[in-house]
Amino acid sequence: MSDLARHFLMNYVAKIKKKFSMETVSSFTVRNLYVSSFTDILQSFSAEEAVRRTFTWGFEMGHEYMLELEKDVEKLKPRVDAPAIAKMAWYIFSGKDLSGIDSKWMNIDDAKFFMVKFWDDNCPWCRGVELAEKNLKMCSYPAGAFEGAYQTASMLMGLKNFVMVREIKCKAAGDEHCEFVIVDIPLEHLEKVVSKLEDVVPGFYSQLDYNFSKKLKEAVL
Ligand SMILES: [Zn+2]
Repeated sequence: MSDLARHFLMNYVAKIKKKFSMETVSSFTVRNLYVSSFTDILQSFSAEEAVRRTFTWGFEMGHEYMLELEKDVEKLKPRVDAPAIAKMAWYIFSGKDLSGIDSKWMNIDDAKFFMVKFWDDNCPWCRGVELAEKNLKMCSYPAGAFEGAYQTASMLMGLKNFVMVREIKCKAAGDEHCEFVIVDIPLEHLEKVVSKLEDVVPGFYSQLDYNFSKKLKEAVL
């Protein structure tokens, strides 16, 4: 079966599973719970702390979810399947389809990394929230979930890489959509890519730096 046909099938199976699974939860409930938690933390702590905490919750969830899927993960093709998985994950956890997705290998001088970018014009995680004054991107929970899941899946597949995921645009901050970037860096290129990433993906470290992801990986994995 071609990769395209396989990805189509994966997406189809996810939709069927969601439809008939006993464990689907209303995205309305999840979103309201998330928005309430985020705004609560925002009132008690700083904006930075709200982003750090919700990202960490997401990371732990993504990590655990992938461990449960260990057998399925072993059948995946590294990088080739990443966009299809990202699409499927967004559908399962956000309750709707992505508006767009793009993936490619990128170069910084002689160093390279794999990048997946995806966006939602009507993102459920921050819907109805207005944080433009603080310029705060608040969909840190799904961003953390993708980082935890991708990093854990990489480990299960035996890849020697380092993964970071950031939300670089957010509707709550006044942007046209919520946009997420997954950066999958082969370890031999880590240092160079990490230090020059902002040149290629502006705003990548605007809320969370490399050390944050490094510490999270060391603590959880
Ligand atoms: Zn957002």
